[in-house]
Amino acid sequence: MNQPHPLVAGNWKMNGLRVSVNEAENLAERLAGAGGISAEVMICPPALLIAQFCRELSSSGILIGGQDCHGESSGAHTGDIAAEMLKDAGASSVIVGHSERRADHGESSEEVCVKASAAHRAGLTAIICVGETQSQREKGQTLDVISEQLSGSIPHGTTAQNTVIAYEPVWAIGTGLTPTLDDVGEVHAHIRAQLSSALGQGDASAMRILYGGSVKPGNAAELMAVENVNGALVGGASLKAEDFWGIISVYAKS
Ligand code: PEP
Repeated sequence: MNQPHPLVAGNWKMNGLRVSVNEAENLAERLAGAGGISAEVMICPPALLIAQFCRELSSSGILIGGQDCHGESSGAHTGDIAAEMLKDAGASSVIVGHSERRADHGESSEEVCVKASAAHRAGLTAIICVGETQSQREKGQTLDVISEQLSGSIPHGTTAQNTVIAYEPVWAIGTGLTPTLDDVGEVHAHIRAQLSSALGQGDASAMRILYGGSVKPGNAAELMAVENVNGALVGGASLKAEDFWGIISVYAKS
């Protein structure tokens, strides 16, 4: 059975200027000096920085991803970015359905599904985010919400190669709060089981399921050790190389 190769992805959100490539280069130096990492490392900077980051980090092994894409490949959609454009700029992946897009832009799982399909069409890996709000957790609806988001957001043609799932409890994003390790394990096991019913055991067991929400250097090791957690999606702590390295180094070989 294929064991998922962990992925640690940094979501820079609407942070960073061209000069911020210095942080990414600092991270690249730490990676080079580490003597091997048993995980893939990715940075998802603002779209305007993707081409520059791809160019300047091309020999670093750091993957570059987008934070969102439109469902169509071109057309009259002012301000939007097609998956094909991200691919053309050098990205290998794109985050879709982040809770900030679901909340701020009213994105439904149906739209997220179209975006994930667009990512696949363009040859990008779709990082599909799901997660419950505080009130949904308090009402005991967490697993139902995750099931609904997952089944609504995963397009036909999804495989372990073209898709990553990120479980991000909305209430844990940017708050410093995290679920208990048992709660993380419960949701990740639930996601794995649902993937198995939807895609078959082969793809389900090989698919990476990331945890995201206030991952920091101080809690990364315990979160990454939870069964069915195959890496992290990191917001705030991915902006500074020192902090991001403190998370990534959980996967350092030596
Ligand atoms: C995120 O926005 O995907 C995220 C996990 O943010 P943070 O790590 O800051 O909670």
